[in-house]
Amino acid sequence: MTSLPPLKDRHALIRSLFDEYIEMYASRDDRLTARFSENFSGYAGSSDVLIKDKDEWIKVTRLDFAQVTGRIRIEMQDLFLQDISANIVAVTAFFHIQLPFPEHILSKETARLVLIFRLEGEDWMIVHSGISVPFCLAQDGEVYPMIRLQNRNFELEELVERRTQALKKLNDKLNALSNTDGLTGIANRRNFDYMLTQEWNREKRAKTPLALILVDVDLFKHYNDHYGHLAGDDCLRMLAQVMTQTVRRAGDLVARYGGEEFVILLPGMNELEAMETGKNILHEVRSLTLPHAETPLGFVTVSLGVASLVPSERHIPKDLIGAADAAMYRAKQSGRNCMQVASC
Ligand code: GH3
Ligand code: MG
Ligand code: MG
Repeated sequence: MTSLPPLKDRHALIRSLFDEYIEMYASRDDRLTARFSENFSGYAGSSDVLIKDKDEWIKVTRLDFAQVTGRIRIEMQDLFLQDISANIVAVTAFFHIQLPFPEHILSKETARLVLIFRLEGEDWMIVHSGISVPFCLAQDGEVYPMIRLQNRNFELEELVERRTQALKKLNDKLNALSNTDGLTGIANRRNFDYMLTQEWNREKRAKTPLALILVDVDLFKHYNDHYGHLAGDDCLRMLAQVMTQTVRRAGDLVARYGGEEFVILLPGMNELEAMETGKNILHEVRSLTLPHAETPLGFVTVSLGVASLVPSERHIPKDLIGAADAAMYRAKQSGRNCMQVASC
């Protein structure tokens, strides 16, 4: 009995047989077909029918090569070299198959290949090849489940597209919600703070004025006490509506500042123009003639603080709000239902 060569050399031999096979398979090299033994048997990836005819296997291999013509990448997960006897060796490999185009199924599944080589004369020939891809997606005449993979890809792409659209809609909705006041439906404080900074910086660069009007409902505590809180809510909604209808230039913003206070941002407006807008607001609110038993007029009225300045390094946005707030305080002091202008 001849003794076997050292184990280390044998493993190197098995490894090189396997590497050579994988390289030919991955590069779609037809020379691979010359390595099949006359006594070949094999299982194709999607079939459990044992093919015993070498020529039949060559056909399967060529069909495989024709189906996917670009180089395949074999991403090895695990590899077992088996030294079975002096003239028989085997390899069991676990790997992911990366086809030369994006696909979502095959590349994530683990395929298993069992290869058996036999020394025939001078050459190690492949006597068995059993590949198992763990799903049954292929159709007749396919080695790889190309049709299903392509359809599945289309389906997935469509699904991703649909989900992306739905997500975008939801995002837009959330964005709108987070910028909107729940009671009145106009911009909220958060939205106003953001726009103030934006407009401040814009007017600063352009060296043009930015105006702001604070609007506070007169004796609104009494309104609530007299008509109830729900009627108070309705009143705030109507005021919000009339103000947005009065301030209509693109870029103007009416926001709920908090409680029964509103704020109006008027980019590019100087003091005189802002006063004009303020007058219109006073007028439109009075014209609503919403009954208010506690005010001198008997209607809901508002008090306004107006401020306008050309933003510069000397100021910060808070200065504009502070100035409008101080002016509004003076409007309250001077009897309400009027407007005062800040000297900035
Ligand atoms: P002034 O003319 O000095 O502004 O008097 P006022 O009564 O309006 O001022 P005050 O700040 O004392 O009262 C504001 C009231 O606004 C008190 C609060 O209950 C009411 N209020 C604030 N937010 C809401 C709201 O969302 N809904 C209702 N219904 N009332 C609100
Ligand atoms: Mg107030
Ligand atoms: Mg008030």
